[in-house]
Amino acid sequence: MEAGARARHDPMSAAKSGQTGPSPKPGVLEIAPYVGGRSAVAGAARTFKLSSNEGALGASPKAVAAFTAAAPALERYPDGSVHVLRDAIGAAYGLDPARIVCGNGSDELLTMLANAYLRPGDEVLFSRHAFLVYRIATLANSATPVVVPEKDLRVDVDAMLAAMTAKTRLVYLANPNNPTGSYLTVEEVRRLHAGLPAGALLVIDAAYAEYVRRNDYAPGIEMVAEFDNVVMTRTFSKIYGLAGLRVGWAFCPAAVADVLNRVRGPFNVSTPAQQAAAAALQDRAHVEAAIAHNEKWRGWVTQEIRGLGLRVDDSVANFVLIHFPETKGRTARDADAFLTARGVILRGVESYGLGQCLRMTIGPEEDCRAAVAGLRAFVEAR
Ligand SMILES: *Cc1c(COP(=O)(O)O)cnc(C)c1O
Repeated sequence: MEAGARARHDPMSAAKSGQTGPSPKPGVLEIAPYVGGRSAVAGAARTFKLSSNEGALGASPKAVAAFTAAAPALERYPDGSVHVLRDAIGAAYGLDPARIVCGNGSDELLTMLANAYLRPGDEVLFSRHAFLVYRIATLANSATPVVVPEKDLRVDVDAMLAAMTAKTRLVYLANPNNPTGSYLTVEEVRRLHAGLPAGALLVIDAAYAEYVRRNDYAPGIEMVAEFDNVVMTRTFSKIYGLAGLRVGWAFCPAAVADVLNRVRGPFNVSTPAQQAAAAALQDRAHVEAAIAHNEKWRGWVTQEIRGLGLRVDDSVANFVLIHFPETKGRTARDADAFLTARGVILRGVESYGLGQCLRMTIGPEEDCRAAVAGLRAFVEAR
C-alpha cells in the first residue's frame, strides 16, 4: 500500500483532523460476508469440486459458441433492455417478455427486490435453513429478518403463517430449498400465499426448478400470472451450467417489473451473458441430458451413502445433504478434512445452521464415484 493510502485509513490522523469515516446503514455490520464453496485444494493431484451445485454437464456447446461470438464487439455496451434473452425466455415458457427482468445472477434480483421494497423495521420471513442471500439482502436494507423454524428440514407453512404480521413486507421461499433439497407442493405454496398480509410480496426462488420431477411441484409461473404479490426467480447458474456468467431472471407482476427496471443497473447483464443464455435455452437436448444425469446419479449417490450407514435426506435438486454423527473423529468437520485431503470438496453448511451435515453436488460420474469412495474410506478408517 502507498504511504498516502495508509494515511487516509489511519485512525490517529483522522482523530487529529477531527474527521471520522462514514458508518453504514443499521444492519450492514450484522452481515456475515458470504463464503462460497471452496474450489481448490493445495497438494491434491486432482480435485473433485462438488461444493457449489454447478451443472454436472457444464454449459451447452451452443452457449459456449454464442459467448465466443460476442468477443469481437466487447467495446460496445450491452443492450440494456436485454431484449434477445427476455424474448427467448418468453418464447420458451409462454410468458410476456415485458414482465421478465434479467439480472446479474438471480442473487442480484433477490437483492434488488429487497432494495426496492424494504424500509427500516419491515419484517422479512424466511425459513431456518434457507439460502443465505435472503438474510444479507434484508440486513443490508435495515429490515428485520424473521427466521421461521422448519419441521424435518422442510419449510413449515403453518409456522410461516403464524410468523406473518402487519410489518411483513417480503417472504422469501426457496423451492426447492438449498441446502436441504426439500420442496413445498403447489398446494402448500398456495396456502402460504393465502396468508400474506396486505402489501407483502412472496418471492419464490426456483433456482433448482428444472431438476424437480414431481407432479405436485410447480416453480410458481401460474401464481405470478394470477396474483399481484408473487415473484418467481430463476437462474442459468445451475442446470444450464453458466454460473460463471451470472445470469438470472424474474417473472413479475407488471408493477414489480416496472419497479425493478427503475432500480436496476442500466447494463446489469453483459453481452456475452445475454447471448450465451439465450443460446442455452434453445438447447433443449442438453437440459434433458442434465436432468437424466441428475436423476441417475443422485439416486446412486443417495443409495451408496446410505449404504455406508450415513443419513442422506431425500432431495429433488442437484445436491444431497449428508448427516454425520457427533462422535469425536466421525463428525462432518472430520469428514470434510478427510475428503479434502483426497481432493474431494464438499460444502460445509454450518453457516446454514447445519453443522452436522455436508452438502454434496451431483457432479459428473467420475466425481460422484470419487466422493463415494472417499466417504467409504472415511467410514471404514477407524
Ligand atoms: C444457486 C442458488 C441461486 C442462484 O444464484 P445465481 O445468483 O443465479 O447464481 C439462487 N437461489 C438459491 C437457493 C441457490 O441455491
